[in-house]
Formats: sequence, structure tokens, C-alpha cells
Amino acid sequence: SARSPQVIIAPADAILGVTEAFKACTNPNKLNLGVGAYRTEEGRPLVLGVVREAERRVLADPRQDKEYIGTGGTPDFCRLSTTLAFGEGSRPLQEGRCATIQGLSGTGSLRVGGKFLAHFYPVKLVLIPSPSWANHKNIFERCGLATQTYRYYKPETRGLDYEGLIADLKDAPEGAVVILHACAHNPTGVDPTPEQWQGVLEVVQQRRLLPFFDSAYQGFASGDLDRDGAAIRLFADAGLELLLAQSYAKNMGLYGERVGALSVISSDAAVSKRVDSQLKATAFGMYLNPPKHGALLVTAILSDPELYAQWKVELKGMADRILSMRQQLFDALQEVGAPGDWSHILKQIGMFSYTGLTKAQVENMTNKWSVFMTMDGRISMAGLSGTKCKYLAEAIKDSVE
Ligand code: PLP
Repeated sequence: SARSPQVIIAPADAILGVTEAFKACTNPNKLNLGVGAYRTEEGRPLVLGVVREAERRVLADPRQDKEYIGTGGTPDFCRLSTTLAFGEGSRPLQEGRCATIQGLSGTGSLRVGGKFLAHFYPVKLVLIPSPSWANHKNIFERCGLATQTYRYYKPETRGLDYEGLIADLKDAPEGAVVILHACAHNPTGVDPTPEQWQGVLEVVQQRRLLPFFDSAYQGFASGDLDRDGAAIRLFADAGLELLLAQSYAKNMGLYGERVGALSVISSDAAVSKRVDSQLKATAFGMYLNPPKHGALLVTAILSDPELYAQWKVELKGMADRILSMRQQLFDALQEVGAPGDWSHILKQIGMFSYTGLTKAQVENMTNKWSVFMTMDGRISMAGLSGTKCKYLAEAIKDSVE
């Protein structure tokens, strides 16, 4: 039809492209470090034992049906999720200032939050760290909001550009929304220190910015849920209004179940009631009800002390394997004599490491060594295993020399 030329092909997702190239490669030594999901030492996806047990209990319960669970998810699920994020006895929770709905994992929670802001919040600008998870810009622009970046990463130190970050937030329009990765910043693996978070809080207060925390890795970064929740709690306890998108994809390994939560902390309980109704109205117009199965698993795990304890052990197991990969890769780089300082591999945190490899070096990694990764030099530590560290170190050495 006359209209069809208006639909042009959408740009391919960078990570899907990496996965496809990896699948097509016939080199037996090939390595896929593009994946954004946890893998075992054997390179396989992992279903946590605690998830299997929760699933067994849920399926064995004769009261379980397939009815809708309600637009906002269940009150239990929401309460357990906010307690996990904000901590027991958190001020905004006690004061009835937190409205929470179940979301479709982290992405769906960001999306409903973005739509809510586009409708009700007067400042239509979202500040996103540079770099950030590529979908942030996409999500918020599709909500009808403008986006702008703030400095975050400093290539020279492969660490945080703290001065740049503070300067850019100081220059931001008053009231702008600011996306903050709660922990384990994707793609850099670089997080502010507790002192630096305090500095971020101060400029957010000065400029009356609205923080929107993206918490995709709580517990998955350090292995400790409270430690990984510290930045969120610092801001919530300071009495600020804020938004939070939580994901259970990584920390419970529930990627495909699409379970997460969106919370909005308001200035008082009366506002919060209105916000709660509008969050639900927003979700209602998008998908009516969130998926049930994953939410039942999360609820079972978070509400049962025995399952909760088991979850923490398994979560720490995943975090520890990633930390051990960092150490082993670092050691292997020393062993093969790769030139340069590789201490950032140890300092960065979470699933990813920003190696600092240039585009040309990444091309060498892929074309000559069959090491598949994104062009920005990001590698997934979760895609690595002890037996592959030496090979990867050799490939890096060859690429940087
Ligand atoms: N936010 C960040 C920073 C992420 O890295 C991811 C996933 O990679 C997400 C959000 C969303 O993941 P999901 O929608 O599967 O929870």
C-alpha cells in the first residue's frame, strides 16, 4: 500500500547480533561474552534450587488457580518487594508514602514509571548516565519524554567520572528525572562509593531532581542484599520523593518470567494514595494484569524464612562465582603478561566488566580469537569459566599489543 514505505526496518539489537555471530562460528574455542544472563561454570543457564522448590510448592497447592491477580499484583508481593529494597522499618514505608505495583520485570517497571511521569510529572526530561543500559533512552523516549546524558564513566581511569557527574547534575534543569543504577552499573561495572553517593544525594536535593532508581542486580553484585540496596536506602531515608524499578530477573534467575516491581515514594500518604491509583490505571491500559507465576514464586521465597535463607546462599553463590572470575581473569592477564593496568577488572562490580578495549581491538578479539562481545568492550563475567580465563587473557594480550 501507499503507506508501507513509512515502516523502515528497526535497528538490530547489538547483543542479539553477537549471539547470532557466536552461534554461526565453528571455532571450538569460541567464547560468548555478550550474554546478559548468568551462566554456570559449564556455561549453562541456571534455575536456582530455591526456585524449583517454590515452584513445587506453588504447583502442589490446590488453591492455586489461573485467575487474574489484579492490576497491581498482590499486596503481599508488593510489601515483600519494598521491604527487600528499602529495608525493614524504612521511613517511607512506615509513613504510608510508598505506592507499589508488580511490574513486568525491570523493563516493564521502568516503562510504566516512564508513562506515569510523562502523564503527571511536569518536567519531561530524563537524565541518563553515559554510558548506560541502551534500553533506558529507548524506554523513556517511547514514553514521550526527552532524554539527556550526564557524565559517568572516565575512560582514563576506567572508573567513575565523579566530578563530571556532579557538574552535570548541578547544571541540570530543576526537577529533571535522574536515572541512577542502584548497584552494579551496566555496562561499566563502576559504582559510586558510599561517600560519592552522599555527594550525589546532596546535588539531587539542591537541584530538586527526581531520582528514578533502576535496581536490576540487588544481591547479585556483592552477594549481600543490604549492601546492594544501600544507595536506594540512603535516598529513601533522606525523605526524598523517588521512583524505583526492581527486577527479579538476575537475583532470582527469573529472566523469562517477567517479574519485578515499580514503587513511587511521595511526599505524604494522601498523595501516595492518588499515585497508587494512577500507577494501576497506567498498567491497566497497557496490559491489564501482570503475569502470575513468577510473582507466586517470588512471594513464596520472600515470605518463607527457610526459602529466603536458601535464596541468599544461592544468590551469594552466583555473586561469588562472578567475583572469582574477575580474580582468575586478572591473574591470567598477569601470567600471560598482557601490557597495561588491569586492576579495573577487580574493582568493577556485577555481571559486566568494561575492559577498555577499543572497537578495533574488539574486532581482533572476535575475528582472530572467536571471542564474541559488544563493540563497547563490555564483557559478561558471568559468561566466563575458569577453564577459559587463560584463553581470554591471551586474546586480550594479542589484541592490545
Ligand atoms: N536495567 C538494567 C540496568 C539492566 O541491565 C537490565 C537487564 O539487563 C534491566 C534493567 C532489565 O531487565 P529485566 O527487564 O529482564 O528485568
